[in-house]
Amino acid sequence: MIFFVGAGPGAPDLITVRGQRLLQTADLILYAGSLVNPELLSYAKKTCTIFNSASMTLEEVVAAMLHAEREGKQTVRLHTGDPSIYGAIREQMDALDRYGISYEVVPGVSSFCGAAAALRAEYTLPGVSQTVILTRMAGRTPVPETEEIAGLAAHQATMVIFLSTGMLPALTQRLLAGGYSPDTPAALVYKATWEDEKTVRCTVQRLAQAAQEHAITKTALVLIGHFLGNDYERSCLYHPAFSHEFRDASEGKV
Ligand code: SAH
Repeated sequence: MIFFVGAGPGAPDLITVRGQRLLQTADLILYAGSLVNPELLSYAKKTCTIFNSASMTLEEVVAAMLHAEREGKQTVRLHTGDPSIYGAIREQMDALDRYGISYEVVPGVSSFCGAAAALRAEYTLPGVSQTVILTRMAGRTPVPETEEIAGLAAHQATMVIFLSTGMLPALTQRLLAGGYSPDTPAALVYKATWEDEKTVRCTVQRLAQAAQEHAITKTALVLIGHFLGNDYERSCLYHPAFSHEFRDASEGKV
């Protein structure tokens, strides 16, 4: 059996209980070495074979899984954050389907959740934004034209931008072109939940400068939007005048 497991954003105790148990019983662990915290590997049993997939191709990863599978072993494919986001798991799952091998996916805490926690922020503030856009700048992996940053920025929703810390001047230019004002609140979160985590609050205009001042070049998320500001409306859910399934407005006390 093969398990694609989300390792969480960095802190080793932010993996799920299920993910940790699978690491403890795995015979083979293939981990995405560039971002998975190696401390997680200490959960592995002594006899476990461990490969860092950073230097492997898809074909080599699949071959290692097939080999383990033929020997009746249990494999954990450990991906950073949640595997569904920029995890390149679909191509692995499709390859396993072709061989008729079954697998399961165990979700993880994505770095965008770790980043909000680091900033003590809420992405979906009433009266500010009720939408979170997770995206990236085009790099060697292209981004469909319909998802170009300026077009997404036009929504003025909360934006979380992955894989783009090396392109901040271009990112700022696209955000401004999309209609964000230069003083829109922005933040950089470097290695959210790791011991060397850094958070930097700035504005859209100052993103590149802020990154330079704090020596942030990679492993960071760029957050954009007024959810980083101070104004919002209180929630209906906890408002005394608001009835719902579990509470009658007449019983509400301020
Ligand atoms: N599946 C992962 C994302 C992998 S893409 C997830 O759910 O988080 C890799 C990018 O994610 C990095 O370039 C960076 O932009 C971001 N990232 C991953 N871990 C991070 C962390 N702990 N803090 C900040 N950004 C992180």
